[in-house]
Amino acid sequence: MVDNVKNVIKGCLSISGIVRELNLTENGTNIKKIREIINVNKLDTSHFKRVKKSKYYDVDKKCPKCGSGFVTKNGGSKSKKFCSRSCANSKEWSDEDKKKKSISAKSSEKLEKLIRIINILRK
Ligand SMILES: [Zn+2]
Repeated sequence: MVDNVKNVIKGCLSISGIVRELNLTENGTNIKKIREIINVNKLDTSHFKRVKKSKYYDVDKKCPKCGSGFVTKNGGSKSKKFCSRSCANSKEWSDEDKKKKSISAKSSEKLEKLIRIINILRK
């Protein structure tokens, strides 16, 4: 198995390529196995294709807090709304947030009352 990997690794551009080359089923178990063989035998993978596909690109945005421009991604987890963490943290509460806050405050008030009643009944 190790020799097989050594034989085909030069002609492959990825671990899944090796899996295919060895006529193995391309699944997580086999990919893990090949990766293990590569790691254990310290096989050279420097010729592997670095897969760096990103559908997101850089866009110029304007921070809604301080108004300064900054560059971020047009989407995805790396996309930012504010120029900096401090701007994001100091965001003003929207009406919806306020509503949610007041609701949770009210329900905790109710809970407190209930606890007080329970305590009175226990005495
Ligand atoms: Zn800002």
